[in-house]
Amino acid sequence: MTENLAARVRTLTKTYGSRSAEVQALRDVDLDIRRGEFTAIMGPSGSGKSTLMHIMAGLDAPTSGEVWLGQAEIGRMPDAQLTLVRRRRVGFVFQSFNLVPTLDVRGNLLLPFELDGRRPDVQEAARLESLIDSLGLRDRLTHRPHQLSGGQQQRVAIARALVTTPEVVFADEPTGNLDSKTGRDVLGLLRDAATRHGQTIVMVTHDPIAASHADRVVVLGDGRIVADRPRSSAGEISAFMLSLEVPS
Ligand code: ADP
Ligand code: MG
Repeated sequence: MTENLAARVRTLTKTYGSRSAEVQALRDVDLDIRRGEFTAIMGPSGSGKSTLMHIMAGLDAPTSGEVWLGQAEIGRMPDAQLTLVRRRRVGFVFQSFNLVPTLDVRGNLLLPFELDGRRPDVQEAARLESLIDSLGLRDRLTHRPHQLSGGQQQRVAIARALVTTPEVVFADEPTGNLDSKTGRDVLGLLRDAATRHGQTIVMVTHDPIAASHADRVVVLGDGRIVADRPRSSAGEISAFMLSLEVPS
């Protein structure tokens, strides 16, 4: 039954700090992410979206509960093993982009292969070129991150997360800094990654229009899942976000 799940968390809690400064970022979260599905995560600022994504991607450890990526329990996996799982199976678009400042755009895009000690195969090389074109990065390949706008850096981060065609892509507000046309292109790429490449996409967004591209919308409020809805129009998403009274 769990073979069709790309990721899964059970009774997941995350507490930051200690004693008087304690913050409960996630409280008893259960979530199944189905393979090949595009899920949008919504909710107000501070509701635990980024924390949930980081833990599901193996970038942060849970305080308690289980975290599965496919058939592997990663919540307590030793670091070295976890690094390999992450490198081979997960793509991540960070809110802060996390580009390497000393590498140019092409170097940043090739980094996932470098880290894995290999070169792109024929298919990956083709996908790399296609991502460079569809994200409008062709004339920026020799620029370093500080020479790019925020939106361009974000596009490099998105291309880097997709280039190895990882099983699961976690994207934290990937359209947050983009103009509406580039935003639509990025959503199209993520939609395509799920539909054509069978990749599983989990995307945090505040934007009901962005969320309307997803197959499913999960809403967090104060560290808990407060709604879980099938694909909906932007109007329906705006309406039910309002009805939850969780301001975003
Ligand atoms: P969101 O992405 O929905 O805005 P976050 O997951 O970033 O929410 O944060 C959830 C809660 O956890 C917030 O109260 C935030 O201040 C807190 N938090 C997040 N990261 C840390 C951290 N490294 N140390 C302490 N508190 C944190
Ligand atoms: Mg966040």
